[in-house]
Amino acid sequence: MTKFSELGLAAPVQKAVAGEGYETPTPIQVRAIPPLLQGKDVVGIAQTGTGKTAAFVLPILTRLLEEKKQAPGLSCRCLILAPTRELAAQIGESIAVYGQHTGLSHAVVFGGVKHGPQVRALARGLDILVATPGRLLDHVADRKARLDLTSLVVLDEADQMLDLGFMPALRKILQMVGKPRQTVMFSATMPPPIRALADDFLRDPVTVAVANQAKPVERIEQGVMYVGTAEKRQALIDLMAPEAKKSTIIFTRTKRGADKVAQLLVEYGHKAAAIHGNKSQNQREKALAAFKSGEMRVLVATDIAARGLDIDGVELVVNFELPNVPESYVHRIGRTARAGAQGRAVALVAPDERGLLQDIEKLTGLRIKGLNDAPPISGPTRPVQPQRGPRRGGGHGGGQGGNRQGGQRGQQNSGGGGQKRSGNRRRKPGGGQRQSA
Ligand code: AMP
Repeated sequence: MTKFSELGLAAPVQKAVAGEGYETPTPIQVRAIPPLLQGKDVVGIAQTGTGKTAAFVLPILTRLLEEKKQAPGLSCRCLILAPTRELAAQIGESIAVYGQHTGLSHAVVFGGVKHGPQVRALARGLDILVATPGRLLDHVADRKARLDLTSLVVLDEADQMLDLGFMPALRKILQMVGKPRQTVMFSATMPPPIRALADDFLRDPVTVAVANQAKPVERIEQGVMYVGTAEKRQALIDLMAPEAKKSTIIFTRTKRGADKVAQLLVEYGHKAAAIHGNKSQNQREKALAAFKSGEMRVLVATDIAARGLDIDGVELVVNFELPNVPESYVHRIGRTARAGAQGRAVALVAPDERGLLQDIEKLTGLRIKGLNDAPPISGPTRPVQPQRGPRRGGGHGGGQGGNRQGGQRGQQNSGGGGQKRSGNRRRKPGGGQRQSA
């Protein structure tokens, strides 16, 4: 088995990894770190939960340390692009943890908050900048940031950036970045526009893939409960009663649905809150922090709000409604069973969702165990309005329509922080929960 010490990472980086209690690198780390250290372009096909953040952050820190360069004002040596403010903040936290002994600087910028602190962080020049595409382009347009001196770019969760309509912004940013550069792309799936982006902007990339992209992590015990639409709320209450002490994420299709489910659970004595695109940054952060600390056991979420979130120790994922796009199911249940833990996923399936269930089973190649007998269906087996958008991932449209701005400055692209020296946001050793942004 490969050890971290065999991967060629800089000593201060290895020290931080050891401090986190990681014993062996995950498969994506074993395969992505060596080519990244060699300066090669890499396409990584991996779901969240596989350790992909460390797979790119650890070699990047090593390379930046070894180069011993300084970024001139307004510029950054490495740019990491992420689809949502939550994911950007989370990557920032990982950099703080893994880079705590390196002295390298980083900042996270996203929209929805004041420009001032971000502008000040950018003005000094940064080793690593983590950004959502829209706010970054705002800073470039205001001449508060320049990308021509950047030589390393990472696109994380590229397929979600596609879903959110960021493709034009990504192309614009990649055209601005200086050459030669090293470009890295991580994505859970490889739809044609992402493949085209890789073809246009990456040089002879090494492709590293772990697990079947469409196959849910095998450690997740999945089950389906067949219920009538009108009985769903009661079914959820019944399901949650014995599960009450478990850390649970419940997915709904719509923002309103998320609020209603959270309210229902609170009425039944659960500590629960909803996160979705209509909540303020502050509300989202508060709910996430309470959930991560274990103070609140139930988080109700829509797809976009939850995707990519790294929360350790989620024991149960409930699909209150199935997503319209089968890939989203894989992402949803991937919130549990992270980093080697066991997990459970239960879907409440109404008669009009049976077609969606079939789509999921087809995609994953797995038959999901029925927790009760499926009643015979009368009437249509698919929702009357399937709401499939022209792109893959259009299923977010069902619940997140208001969020799909289709442009560079979507709702998801908001929030934002200033500069951090690596190491001032320690995560608990032993892979504990990350602090909230
Ligand atoms: P990611 O896929 O980047 O979201 O990482 C998922 C989780 O795995 C995070 O909580 C990391 O802290 C954890 N992790 C990453 N690499 C390792 C490793 N080599 N050993 C144990 N846990 C890890």
